[in-house]
Amino acid sequence: MARARPDRAGAPATALRSFHEGVAWPALPSQRGAALQALLFQLEQTQWWTPARLVEHQLRQLAGLVRHAWETVPWHRQRLADAGYRPDEGLTPARWRALPVLGRRDIQDAGEGLLSGRLPPEYTPTIDTQTSGSTGQPVKIRGTQLDALMWEAITLREHLWHRRDFSARLAVIRANAPPAGGAARALMQRDWGPPAGEVFETGPSAVMGFGLDVAAQALWLMRHEPDYLLTYPANLAALIRHCSARGERPSRLKEVRTIGETVTPELRAACLEAWNVPLVDAYSSQELGYLALQCPEGSLYHVMSESVLLEVLDAGGAPCAPGETGRVVATGLHNLAMPLLRYELGDYAEAGPPCSCGRGLPTLKRILGRSRNMLRLPGGALRWPLVGFSRYREVAPIRQYQLVQRTLESIEARFVVDRPLGPDEEARLAGVIRSALGHDFRITFAYFDGEIPRTAGGKFEEFVSEVE
Ligand SMILES: [Zn+2]
Repeated sequence: MARARPDRAGAPATALRSFHEGVAWPALPSQRGAALQALLFQLEQTQWWTPARLVEHQLRQLAGLVRHAWETVPWHRQRLADAGYRPDEGLTPARWRALPVLGRRDIQDAGEGLLSGRLPPEYTPTIDTQTSGSTGQPVKIRGTQLDALMWEAITLREHLWHRRDFSARLAVIRANAPPAGGAARALMQRDWGPPAGEVFETGPSAVMGFGLDVAAQALWLMRHEPDYLLTYPANLAALIRHCSARGERPSRLKEVRTIGETVTPELRAACLEAWNVPLVDAYSSQELGYLALQCPEGSLYHVMSESVLLEVLDAGGAPCAPGETGRVVATGLHNLAMPLLRYELGDYAEAGPPCSCGRGLPTLKRILGRSRNMLRLPGGALRWPLVGFSRYREVAPIRQYQLVQRTLESIEARFVVDRPLGPDEEARLAGVIRSALGHDFRITFAYFDGEIPRTAGGKFEEFVSEVE
């Protein structure tokens, strides 16, 4: 069983959960728990492999994926043929880099054309998600049960890397929280939920959605005193500011985990200073799952090479050297339902040096991904904004969006569109936005050609607030 290295003093005790009646010890896992432990067992070893050995195995896996794309996705077949790919020639690093990069616009254009016409039954039922990614460009992605399993295995790896105490109390504040008898309450669970609860005996957890504004979240945290908190950076920053203004802090908290947006050095510092706990970040995307996890022994992010081939490319398409910043282009190694080959996420990252921890997994030093600001409601409440993007393309051909809160009562919706929108389409979009944001804002529209500009620092802000 992969777990925190036993030679480390002070590692918390981890008890495996047994699923067989009458067997408390040694634990007999559930079927899914067994699959997860089998993956963890391998991940524990592969993290120490050399970069060359990792690439060799990635290419072996990719050769099968590319061949599958060639055979079952006509859209890919054409592009692969144009790039000089021949299925009988195998895959070398040079041949891989000759394949074209896949952009979000390509995915929007191809639509269902990117789906495989032949998916082995063990990968079903498939899982569809909509994501706006880092650049406000909505795409529909189809994944499989195997993607979900890899997501869970890497979640467990992340827990083990950071030596979490599974008996502790966990609080999660995130966008897609399950409804809990009204949007304003937390869902209390007896364990941490999958995957940790599938493999380990864990303490209780609570999941909150953004129906709770920051003041209500803070109140909840003070009352329930979790040991660990998982949320998004923009929400965390607002929580820290809110608590600090009142001279409060969640007193049992040991660590904060973040996902979903770019973490700034200022936020890490604020977390340490105000709450005296470290911030541990993970870099993930809806399309490809985990891309990189923060190293337990330093500030670098390790790429999840067992699940994704991640390239950082300069303007000319060549790999960046450590210290250089370039576009993130990534390929999920296991998505047979909708192969995303050399997919450009819209993020930028700085390639990192080898890590002093000894792991061979390549590193990123810094990630410039999605960034978002908080929404201020007229009554004064502060909320992480749900913008309703997944419904935009049902209404009109929206390529890219950005919402700007101009005043307490008004929102500017910025769009890149394929053709001018009619007044009825604008009215419907305004309705979607008001309903998602949870207030009857006055909505105005502004249109851009090509792309909505990034900030000077290279970040794309999906939701901008000009309200103090
Ligand atoms: Zn490391």
